[in-house]
Amino acid sequence: MNTLSFWEQQSFFRTADIVIIGSGIVGLNAAFALKKMDSSLKVMVIERGPLPFGASTKNAGFACFGSMTEILDDLKTSSKDAVFSLVEKRWHGLQKLRAMLGDESIQYQPFGGYEIFKKNEKEQFEKCLQHLPEFNQILSGITGHQNVYTVVSNKNAEFGFRNTSQLIFNQLEGQLNTGEMMKKLIHLAIEQGIQLINGLDIEFLNENENQVDIVAGNGWRFSARKVLVATNGFARHFFPDIELWPARNQVLITKPIDKLPFKGSFHYDKGFVYFRNVDVACPPSKSRILLGGSRNLDLQAENTAEFGTTDLIQNALLKLLKEVILPDRKVEVESWWSGIMGLGKTKRPLIEMRSPRIGIAVRLGGMGVALGSLAGEEAAGMIFQE
Ligand SMILES: Cc1cc2nc3c(=O)[nH]c(=O)nc-3n(C[C@H](O)[C@H](O)[C@H](O)COP(=O)(O)OP(=O)(O)OC[C@H]3O[C@@H](n4cnc5c(N)ncnc54)[C@H](O)[C@@H]3O)c2cc1C
Repeated sequence: MNTLSFWEQQSFFRTADIVIIGSGIVGLNAAFALKKMDSSLKVMVIERGPLPFGASTKNAGFACFGSMTEILDDLKTSSKDAVFSLVEKRWHGLQKLRAMLGDESIQYQPFGGYEIFKKNEKEQFEKCLQHLPEFNQILSGITGHQNVYTVVSNKNAEFGFRNTSQLIFNQLEGQLNTGEMMKKLIHLAIEQGIQLINGLDIEFLNENENQVDIVAGNGWRFSARKVLVATNGFARHFFPDIELWPARNQVLITKPIDKLPFKGSFHYDKGFVYFRNVDVACPPSKSRILLGGSRNLDLQAENTAEFGTTDLIQNALLKLLKEVILPDRKVEVESWWSGIMGLGKTKRPLIEMRSPRIGIAVRLGGMGVALGSLAGEEAAGMIFQE
């Protein structure tokens, strides 16, 4: 076995104050917050991938905080206070992320977001219409903006969608470049003296009175005073009993398309499908479409922590692309990928101490870009104090 040398042990793996497992949005933000609380802390972030390899580098880059049908759906199982306090957290989380990284470096674009209603979703649309004034009032208290949601169904023709009926616009949604966001977060971590170790799969944690012993898949052993597990959709590896399940999302990006008739973030099929324009690596006047989701077509197979694509979902997304989003136009797919989310019955992240020296910050759901910075901060406060 390739064991750690004395030098490696001393310089890289001497007992850290806090080891964070997982270098996604949450893990990195927790590390920043810990360093802010006490700059002398030795904080180490361990990631099994060569890059963060779960959801944070795979997502669609929607800077969103809740579409109307999603909020209405959440109100069926949670109180109004709970639902809107989560919306508020997402909103403030996004503002914090943008302020920390800078709009230019993450290529933030305030194009807005649209919820699309199909022809057979009349009842749902009517319900949204009924709640629109109330939601706008609550959101003006949260965001300081009036009329966050408006009905803009006339834009259907301009955008060229087929078989859709109504559109609700959210003027405060934006989009960002996911890769640049993560690159900047990693850059900041290195700048702040946070030790990042990539390519190390943590297999096992063993807590004793004074420390947590950490065992990696390659047999390396080291320790930390405390450990924060920020592995989101993969967290059941350490805690098989937590209320969380992994959910895979398959995504495609097209080749550049001439004069794409829309810009913005679009939610379709009750939010199970999402698409947006992407202008990265395109000549002027061209844009790509990023399209993903449809895991509701095969929930059993898609509730998995295994990366991969399936014919069923690829075919459904392609059909949607060619028949609804860009009908009668030639469009070619450049590539496919998948990412793993962590879901639960509730949309609240799971942030808690599991034992005196081990905490978790997981279950970020489908809006972790918005929630990640505050979730990391909350987890850091928790593990720092305990
Ligand atoms: C396809 C897709 C599209 C999405 N679109 C959006 C969107 O547009 N807007 C939005 O707000 N949210 C979106 N999300 C959700 C968002 O990306 C996530 O909620 C967020 O990135 C979660 O961050 P995280 O840090 O908790 O987890 P992750 O980014 O998954 O990080 C966890 C890390 O832990 C590492 N890890 C796991 N196990 C171990 C181990 N044993 N040892 C060491 N390391 C380990 C993983 O490699 C991974 O890098 C999307 C998610 C997916 C999958």
